[in-house]
Amino acid sequence: MSEFDGAPSIKVTSVSKVYPGGKKALTDVSFEVESGSFVVLLGPSGSGKSTLIRCIAGLERVSEGKIQFDSKTVSSKDLHIKSEERELSMVFQDYALWPHMTALDNVAFALRRRSLPKSQRKTLATSMLDRMGLMHLADRYPQELSGGEQQRVALARALVARPGLMLFDEPLSNLDADLRERLRVEISTLTREVGATALYITHDQSEAFALADYVGVLDRGRLVQLDRPEELYAKPKTPFVARFTGLAGDLPAVVDSVDLSRHVVSTLDGCAWLSASSNVTLQKGEKVRMLIRAAAVKMAALAVSGVNPQRGTLSGTVSDVAFRGIGYEHVVEVSDGYRLSGIFSDLRHSRGTGVLLSFDPEGCILFPEKSEGASSVTLDNKSLKTDETRLEVSPSLP
Ligand code: ADP
Repeated sequence: MSEFDGAPSIKVTSVSKVYPGGKKALTDVSFEVESGSFVVLLGPSGSGKSTLIRCIAGLERVSEGKIQFDSKTVSSKDLHIKSEERELSMVFQDYALWPHMTALDNVAFALRRRSLPKSQRKTLATSMLDRMGLMHLADRYPQELSGGEQQRVALARALVARPGLMLFDEPLSNLDADLRERLRVEISTLTREVGATALYITHDQSEAFALADYVGVLDRGRLVQLDRPEELYAKPKTPFVARFTGLAGDLPAVVDSVDLSRHVVSTLDGCAWLSASSNVTLQKGEKVRMLIRAAAVKMAALAVSGVNPQRGTLSGTVSDVAFRGIGYEHVVEVSDGYRLSGIFSDLRHSRGTGVLLSFDPEGCILFPEKSEGASSVTLDNKSLKTDETRLEVSPSLP
């Protein structure tokens, strides 16, 4: 009987990883994954995602800290349980099927360590291929399959043994957009169907939000936030998290006043009532960066809006427009050098059209200008017209 029957919880405590040669890929990473939950680790290339999942898989040793499955330590500085003994399945970016085996044999091979007769292994593998609509490919070799088919065979192989822990290393990144979407849904439903604990890494924010019960964001080897997707989106802890989870853009501003009910900030050329994020304490006179979610911006043509440009709005000019099926996404130049992108409207506003933008306070997040990663453009040559324009901002939430 396995030591890890059922879906294990995972506890990562203060894990650091230094590769031979001195490259520090992980610094003091700690988090917990509940049994049966689906956690996605999100971060740009080089942020340490693969290193972390490989440490959890037992493919890399940790330099400091420890990893536990349930209460059993599987990795520490002095202890390393081999990957084969961790009772997990892993799906890789490059499929990693055995080239000399058919699709069916690849899937059946995953059951080799079960004490089952060969015929029963084949029966289980066949039914998993059937479940995934792959029966017609059972006798093909990997080189006779497309990338998407290979990845679905790899997924069948990972699932057939009904592992307690499933690890996914960017499994969709080599596939085209349509296939990626379909396979994402299969991964989500099948993994939850077998009740496994799942850890999935990606650099794609929309994939992370679509799949995860919880999303963790890695920045240069550190886990900066782990939260429900909704929480991460509404209350990013750092400007990096906000940027990496999708922004229309950001604008410089200055805090005019802070009171119990709201902060008022001055910005480029308008006024709006906007919310600050919950973990920021702002002082009057402080330079801030206003990070704006695209979904928080509404646009109207300047001529028909009837809105006073001085109150709650910014004026701008459309510099690009893209058809997105259910409507149009616009890039709007709000002041020289400052632009907001991904602004959605049912109507097409042509390039060069003057527009007014209004803002949902919940999607406008303030960070002090000096916080790490807050600035994306230099402010030096852009003076703020503070007496012309005021943005009024709701208070930090408790
Ligand atoms: P990600 O998966 O987020 O792209 P990685 O975990 O692959 O990030 O890499 C994190 C950092 O560790 C990078 O700077 C990378 O160059 C470095 N790195 C990864 N693998 C090795 C290795 N085997 N030896 C030395 N440095 C490595």
